[in-house]
Amino acid sequence: MTDTADTTGHNFDPTILREYDIRGIVGKTLSAEDARAIGRAFGTLVRRKGGKSVAVGYDGRLSSPMLEAALVEGLSASGVDVRRIGMGPTPMLYFAVYHLHTDGGIMLTGSHNPPDYNGFKMMLGHDPFFGDDIQRLGALSASGDFESGTGAVSRHDIVQEYADRMMRDYREGKQLKIVWDSGNGAGGPLVNEICMRLPSSHVLLNVEVDGTFPNHHPDPTVPENLEQLMEAVAEHKADLGIALDGDGDRIGVIDGQGRILWGDQLMIVLARAVLAERPGATIIADVKASQSLYDEIARAGGVPLMWRTGHSLIKTKMKEVKAPLAGEMSGHIFYADHYYGFDDALYAAIRLIEILSNGDQSLAEMRDTLPEMVNTPELRFPCAEERKFKVAGEVKEWLKGQSGVEVNDVDGVRVKTADGWWLLRASNTQDVLVARCEAKDEAGLARLKQALGDALRAVGMEPPSF
Ligand SMILES: [Zn+2]
Repeated sequence: MTDTADTTGHNFDPTILREYDIRGIVGKTLSAEDARAIGRAFGTLVRRKGGKSVAVGYDGRLSSPMLEAALVEGLSASGVDVRRIGMGPTPMLYFAVYHLHTDGGIMLTGSHNPPDYNGFKMMLGHDPFFGDDIQRLGALSASGDFESGTGAVSRHDIVQEYADRMMRDYREGKQLKIVWDSGNGAGGPLVNEICMRLPSSHVLLNVEVDGTFPNHHPDPTVPENLEQLMEAVAEHKADLGIALDGDGDRIGVIDGQGRILWGDQLMIVLARAVLAERPGATIIADVKASQSLYDEIARAGGVPLMWRTGHSLIKTKMKEVKAPLAGEMSGHIFYADHYYGFDDALYAAIRLIEILSNGDQSLAEMRDTLPEMVNTPELRFPCAEERKFKVAGEVKEWLKGQSGVEVNDVDGVRVKTADGWWLLRASNTQDVLVARCEAKDEAGLARLKQALGDALRAVGMEPPSF
């Protein structure tokens, strides 16, 4: 039944409807009214697809309980039943959708953003809800064409079941010493649960949930956020350190010598283990990953697949090609091998620990076997919204006149030369272009930077300083 008599449309601040999620600054671009409208509109979409229930979870931010309550009101008013799982990491919400057999899920989270941010990550059925879906939700809300009803609201404590599920297939080997840094994010209580189930010696940092993030920002891709973990790994002579982002869907890893394993390096370790049991499997990584990852997947008997950056895009591709494992430089790691195919930092950590616990090599020894590459960090530079998606195409045209280059255009342009590769792509979430170069040596890297600069100038862009 569609009832428009008692409802008027609700317009969102246009900046909050983003590519992979809805996200804004609480009290400025995001309010309880917005949360209620998101619930009403999302519930309407679920009902029109024949669904009846939605799971809702929230992270440890100070604004999360208030926004969650409004979201639940909106969902219920659309006539869907709401299963509230309370506070936890984002992957626990994904798990809830499977475990509680709901027709969708909404996670209230600001992920790794500053404390005054918050947002919504959504799943419709078992699929990520993103891109056009989010625009559709915004248009539906503006129209006020909502379903109406009174959905039942219930609470479900699934922490134990979720922890048990993550540990279900764990093969116990030798004991390790592990330092965990939850960054005062929503994953802390789950780290506690896992440590009680995982036979090793554990040191826990920043396990209390605190939405002000008093110790460091919960983003493990930024090296300074890993300093506390590195110190603790050294102090306790630990085998490894594991960091989670604010909502537990991204992982950072430190080896026993205090060195960071970047997302693509971690993926080499994880991919080798999956391929040992599933030879010939397709393993996906994003366009920012090192060539050495793709080479190592092939060497280990797998089929490497380079795909677009963005957790929703990777999840969708994984299903399509039935890949058992995928990963992004950003630390999103997705297991569909003995698991559901969503990004879950804790589950990835458990799989890594299992590999180390049952193997002969330490993580530091494994890291020493990885090819040494020289690369630039991710270079981000501003580009106008209306221009940013065109630049890569223009560069691709210009490259047609160049020799000795191999171009992959799955996401922007990734150009392979005798020296290595360079990447230029538009960010889906900000008005910036993102570039990265990787070579076997410094001289090669200098040539790649020059080539990237030439390409940018050829299409009228000023290259960033690098
Ligand atoms: Zn996150």
